[in-house]
Amino acid sequence: MYESLFRNALFPAYETLVKRRGTASHVAEYEHNQWLGPRELQALQLRKLNELLAHCWAQVPFLQRHWREHGVAPGALGSIGELERYPVLTKALISAHYDEMIATDWRGRTLTKVTGGSTGDPFRFEYTMDVYARRTAVMWRGYGWGGAKLGTRTGYLWGTGLRKGGWGGFKDRMYHGAFNRRFFDAFSLTESNIDPIIDELVAYRPNAIVGYVTPVALVARRMIRTGRTLTGVRGVLTGAEALYDPERHDIEQAFGCPVFNTYGSREVMLMASECEKHQGLHVNADHLVLETLDESGCGVAAGISGEVAITDLHNFGMPMVRYLNGDRATYATSGCSCGRGLPLLASVDGRVLDLIETPDGRHVPGEFFVYAMLDWPDVRQWQVVQTARDCVQFRLVVPAPWSQERRDKLTAKVQATAGTGMRVEIVEVETIPTTPSGKRRLTISLANASLLN
Ligand SMILES: [Zn+2]
Repeated sequence: MYESLFRNALFPAYETLVKRRGTASHVAEYEHNQWLGPRELQALQLRKLNELLAHCWAQVPFLQRHWREHGVAPGALGSIGELERYPVLTKALISAHYDEMIATDWRGRTLTKVTGGSTGDPFRFEYTMDVYARRTAVMWRGYGWGGAKLGTRTGYLWGTGLRKGGWGGFKDRMYHGAFNRRFFDAFSLTESNIDPIIDELVAYRPNAIVGYVTPVALVARRMIRTGRTLTGVRGVLTGAEALYDPERHDIEQAFGCPVFNTYGSREVMLMASECEKHQGLHVNADHLVLETLDESGCGVAAGISGEVAITDLHNFGMPMVRYLNGDRATYATSGCSCGRGLPLLASVDGRVLDLIETPDGRHVPGEFFVYAMLDWPDVRQWQVVQTARDCVQFRLVVPAPWSQERRDKLTAKVQATAGTGMRVEIVEVETIPTTPSGKRRLTISLANASLLN
């Protein structure tokens, strides 16, 4: 009842009248697009891509130069495949030519976001309010497939970042209350607080759950062990970490409903998600171009893992064309039986963030460190290695030696979540070694994670 009232009346009114954003009409557009056939979707994607490229040729000085240097000339593409003629774009290039990456008509009107990214390089970029509204809309489509529709009563097992007290806390509670969702702090699950959190979750009676794989799996296994159940959940949406079959099985058993995996990032939000058929992750191809590439920037065939390059088709403020986000993924060799024309990823590969288990039994997901390091954007590279049960070592590549004040602040931040029994070592290094596949693992635990075994 509330769900449909919120979805059909309150949310459109809030977005359109209060926020003056086009989110509500974007929601309708994306809902419609998902049922287009593959050919219609490709035509739609190509039209949007050509509009974006023409805009870049007219207004983005760095891209014009970058592209000409690689022998590309202006002109409409005849197919998405022709995008391969354009060079890829890296975080380093965007950072080095930041101002010239912003479209001339958009200067001074964009919003800024900083991310740790999945490869650990601090990264700043610009986007527009319209693309934010579109990203929100396409996210609601993907979440909706998993039963977490706009207005559905949803429990989030997430790092909350919520303000607790005062006016800010009140506003946060009102805002999320209106969306019919509640956040449960998943960054510091412990032996002593996991049961109370499960009690709260059960009492909240959510119809959907959204969360990182690790905390959702921990909660699920605890519920199975202690015989607790939750009825009325339509779907559990997981993201941010690779989802393996044992976790999927346990989560489905504990919550009595299917799991829907998603793939997103801070740069562009939701990129792909599973539908009710669970045959892969549908790429939001009416909203972005997701390519999987070999080292030379050419597309790899379906069934083969490649580097992910993203082109957000609507970020006219700072257009990032063929942006390498550091992930790898594999396209599926066939379509989905659900009838949606959106192409399928078979898997998202190589996002490895180990869980850190603390001396007092807390379980800190690797994502915590990604967020924590956002406070120090000048750190060029980092890696966290749990060298013993009671010790995490930060390996930092920094432009200048770290002061004691910074060291103390980072230590305090980690201990606030991991407990004061966790020692924090901070070492400055020249470089962070990569894995044979060229990825840098951000968090590595050399200590045992007993709850997961
Ligand atoms: Zn499907």
